[in-house]
Amino acid sequence: MTSIRVRIAPSPTGPLHLGTARTALFNFLFARHLGGTFIFRLEDTDQARSSVEFEKDILNGLHWLGIQWDEGPGIGDEPPGGRGSYGPYRQMQRLERYTEAATRLLAEDKAYYCYCTPEELDAERKRQEAARETPRYSGRCSALSQADRAAFEVEGRTPVVRFRIPSNRTIAFDDIVRGHVEIDTNALGGDLVIVRSDGTPLYHFTVAVDDAAMAISHVIRGEDHLSNTPKHILLFEAMGAAIPKFAHLPLILNPDRTKMSKRKSQTAVAAYRAQGFIPEAFVNYLALLGWSTGTEEEVLSLADLIERFELSAVNKAGAIFDRGRLEWLNGQWIRRLSADDLIDRLRPFLEAELAAGRIDWIPADEDMRALLPVVQERLPTLAAVGELVRFLFVNELALDPTLIVPKRWDIATTIAGLEAARSVIAGVGEVSWEADEIEPPLRQLVEERGWKAGELFMVVRVAVTGRTATPPLFDTMVALGYERTLARLDRAIEQLQAVAAT
Ligand code: GLU
Repeated sequence: MTSIRVRIAPSPTGPLHLGTARTALFNFLFARHLGGTFIFRLEDTDQARSSVEFEKDILNGLHWLGIQWDEGPGIGDEPPGGRGSYGPYRQMQRLERYTEAATRLLAEDKAYYCYCTPEELDAERKRQEAARETPRYSGRCSALSQADRAAFEVEGRTPVVRFRIPSNRTIAFDDIVRGHVEIDTNALGGDLVIVRSDGTPLYHFTVAVDDAAMAISHVIRGEDHLSNTPKHILLFEAMGAAIPKFAHLPLILNPDRTKMSKRKSQTAVAAYRAQGFIPEAFVNYLALLGWSTGTEEEVLSLADLIERFELSAVNKAGAIFDRGRLEWLNGQWIRRLSADDLIDRLRPFLEAELAAGRIDWIPADEDMRALLPVVQERLPTLAAVGELVRFLFVNELALDPTLIVPKRWDIATTIAGLEAARSVIAGVGEVSWEADEIEPPLRQLVEERGWKAGELFMVVRVAVTGRTATPPLFDTMVALGYERTLARLDRAIEQLQAVAAT
């Protein structure tokens, strides 16, 4: 049996896209499940569009997701930072391999030099379009003599290298996801440019050369590459290399079933990270884009995913990206975090609130811990912490006093209610400042006065927080603190008295 070797081969021409992250994850899960090798190769030969920033973004994103690769160039057996600390393979550092492979194909007449100029090719394409033919290279340079070539060289033309694509052949393969696929070679656009006139190799060629050199056993990639596969198969054949198995993953779609594009949708993994999605949840969600365990189980750790993942269970149908489900999963994972871990992860988001002037201070760790019962169950994302706690960490609560008066109460009753509640709450004292100590005397007060608990509690809630919907009232008061709670009650009473006096 051949050993399992898979790779991801992103081009650093944009930030880490969630489709690329999903492809990386499926390759990683497949390799780990079967004890195979997962390789990371940067396809950086498009120098005009590649950048170091994008490279860093891709590397950081994969590290963040916990996806580690197993091999790297020029590094010893024991990388200092563990498995994932190997650098990736970079195609720009492997140029001589492509030159060698092209030289061999030329020597075997499986490829040839083509001197057609862009203008000539353009004219050819226009003529074909006018005649309603499928555009393809005519093969004009496919049988040049030495003399023809010499004449072009004298004109100063520098050739590209074209790989011969046979006509009238059907390339068939059994894709692990898509099943049996057949593609007619006449639909491939004619002989394929594999080396540009400046000597740099092109995508289809470098992929095939590297997949062969790296003994890749399974090519797992996005469905958008399905139509490229026959070209790669022909190149493998020409190079005398073994043909890997293929698995083309379904596209990731918007809820309206259109393709997720950079322009229309949020596709950068870093943007999700910045919004407070946590990697445990993000990886879990990515795994479910096109794959499922076949059971109801949805909350799965990376270790669970490695244990369960089966390439053969990947769906053909497009995978709809459902942000609501991602948020739900994120909430599930946030609930599973320990208090200290959650506090650490919330801190940068609170710092951003502070920097934006939406809160006046960042609570100390112990105050955060007191707050967790109030927030942990309610966070779809880490960034949502701002909205949940904003009213707690401001010096001056913006309060609309009329909001305090409930429907069936008048101002005078409301003031009386607040004053009575204030004195009961003050009686709890700083030392016993806990939800279980605050609630019973307030309930007793309600009973004595013949009020409705819901009404008095709403009056207190709005006075203390400025809003009608908050986390549980008594926990919130505990998180706010004894002194601040009383100060806010006093201020609300004053404001209401001022309204009553006018
Ligand atoms: N560089 C290609 C891409 O970014 C890789 C395709 C492949 O996996 O073969 O889409």
